[in-house]
Amino acid sequence: METKYLFVTGGVVSSLGKGIISSSLACLLKARGYRVTIQKFDPYINIDPGTLNPYEHGECYVTVDGHEADLDLGHYERFTNIRTTRANNVTTGRIYQSVIDKERRGDYLGKTVQIIPHITDEIKRNVMALGKTGQYDFVITEIGGVVGDIESLPFLEAVRQLRWELENDCLCIHLTYVPYIAAAKELKTKPTQHSVKELQHLGIQPDVLVLRTEHEVPASVRRKIAQFCNVSPDAVVESRDASSIYKVPMLMHSQHLDEIVLRKVGINPVGEPDLGPWKEFLSRMDSATEKVTIGLVGKYVELQDAYKSINEALFQAATYMGHKLDLRYIHSEKVNPANVDSQLSGLDGVIIAPGFGQRGIEGKFTALEWCRTHDIPTFGICLGMQCMVIEFARNVLGLREANSTEMDHATPDNVIDLMEEQKSIHNMGGTMRLGAYRCDLRQGSRAAAAYGATSVEERHRHRFEFNNDYRARFEAAGMQCVGQNPDTHLVEVVEIPALRWFIGTQYHPEYSSTVLSPSPLFMDFVKNAINYKQEKEQNN
Ligand code: GLN
Repeated sequence: METKYLFVTGGVVSSLGKGIISSSLACLLKARGYRVTIQKFDPYINIDPGTLNPYEHGECYVTVDGHEADLDLGHYERFTNIRTTRANNVTTGRIYQSVIDKERRGDYLGKTVQIIPHITDEIKRNVMALGKTGQYDFVITEIGGVVGDIESLPFLEAVRQLRWELENDCLCIHLTYVPYIAAAKELKTKPTQHSVKELQHLGIQPDVLVLRTEHEVPASVRRKIAQFCNVSPDAVVESRDASSIYKVPMLMHSQHLDEIVLRKVGINPVGEPDLGPWKEFLSRMDSATEKVTIGLVGKYVELQDAYKSINEALFQAATYMGHKLDLRYIHSEKVNPANVDSQLSGLDGVIIAPGFGQRGIEGKFTALEWCRTHDIPTFGICLGMQCMVIEFARNVLGLREANSTEMDHATPDNVIDLMEEQKSIHNMGGTMRLGAYRCDLRQGSRAAAAYGATSVEERHRHRFEFNNDYRARFEAAGMQCVGQNPDTHLVEVVEIPALRWFIGTQYHPEYSSTVLSPSPLFMDFVKNAINYKQEKEQNN
C-alpha cells in the first residue's frame, strides 16, 4: 500500500498532549498490524534539544543512533516499541542549516533562497523521508507548538501543500481544548472554533478533531463543533483526562479514532486491533494495591518532565511487579548530613539521577553514603553512577578529595575523568558520547543476572568516564566494574556485590524501557526494592 501521512497539529494552548495522542494512534495502528512510525517537527531554532536546559523543555531523549531528541520521542517508543532515529525529530534549526548549506554549495543555481519554496520544500522532503524508505504504511507527523504561532507557519504551509499533493493518502488531526467554566457550568467551544478557523485561514481543513477536556463533551456539543468546523460528526473525538497516559489508546479506540482514520485514508477497517498485552498491562496497573516507594535524588525535581523516561521506566517496572509506584522527588541541593536520615529513611529504593555540573552534587554524595551504609537498593544512572564511584573513592578508598574533573579540574584523584576523545572538542551541540553502544557484562554479576545476558546494548549521553587507572583499587575494596565496552574498555556498569542491590550504569537504561518491553534492569531494581520492603515489614 501507499504510505499514508497523518499530521497532528495543536490549537488553543500548548501541553494538550499531542505526543500522547500521536503515540496512542500509532499504538492502535500497530496493533492492527500496520508498520508505523512517528516523527516530531519542532519549530524552534536550536538544531536539537541537546543544548537546552531541562527547565526549558524537560528531559532530553536520546535515540539509538545518537540523536538528542525531544522527549515526545520517548512516548513514541514507549507506546509502540518502535526505535526512533535522528530522522524522527527535526527542528527549524536543522531545516535552515540544511538550506543554508545547500545555498553555500551553490545547489540553488543562483536563485534567491526564500521561505517559500525553499524552506517549505526542505520541510516537505523531511516529512516524506521516512515514508520514502518503503518501511512504513503510516507516517505520523506531529507539528510542535500551537497553530497561530509565527514560527510554525512554514511547517503548516508544508502540511497544506502535502495535503494537496497527497490527496487521500494524507489527513490532518487537530487537537484542541474545550474548557469548562465552573461558574457557568458550561463547556466552551469557542476556543476550538477559533483555532480551527486559524487553521482554515492557513488553507488546512482538519479531518479529525480531538477535544482535550476535563469533563465529558456531550454528543450535542460535539455535533455543534462538527458543524461549525466543517468536520464530519463522527470525526469529533473527546480526549478526557485519564488516570494514566497508558489508558489513552483505549479511550481513543472506544471512540473509534483508529477506524475513522483508516476510513478517511481509504482503508476499510476490518477486525479489531490486537491489544491483548496492552490490556494485560492496564489490568495489572488497575489491580495493584501495594505500593513500592522509590526516592529520586536529583536537582531538577521541581520539573517532573526532566526525568520523564526514568519515571516511566519505574512505573512500568512497578506495574509488572504488581505494585503501585510511589515516587518521591528529593532535591539534591537540600540533602545534607544533618537531614539525610529523615529525607531517605522509609524509602524502599533510591535512584541517583543523571545530570551535569556542580549544583546539588554534594547532596548526591551524602545520599549515596547513607544508601551504601544502610544497604538500601540503589540505582545510579550516568552522573548518578559517577557519584557512586566518587563517594566510594572518598569514603571507602580514603581518597578524600576524589572527584570528577567535570566538578574539580584540579582534583588529585580524578576517578571520573573526561573521555580521551572529548579532549579536543569545544562545540557543545551533539558532541557527547551519544547513542547505543555494546556493553559486556561479567558472568555471575547481578547486572548480568538482571538482563539474563552477558552482552547488552544501551544508550549513552556523557562526556566523562570511569578512570581505569583506579580500577584495581575499586575492585579490591568491593566495587566491581562488571560492565565494559568491548572495544574501548570504558566502564559502563559498577556494582557492590556485598550489598542488596547497588548498581550504577554509565548508560541510560530508561530510554529503552517500553510498556510492552520494560527495562530488565529497572525490573530487577524494583523487584529488589519490593523484597527489601517486605523484609523491613517482617522485621517490624
Ligand atoms: N555530566 C556527566 C558527563 O557528562 C554525566 C552526564 C549524564 O548524567 N547524562 O559525563
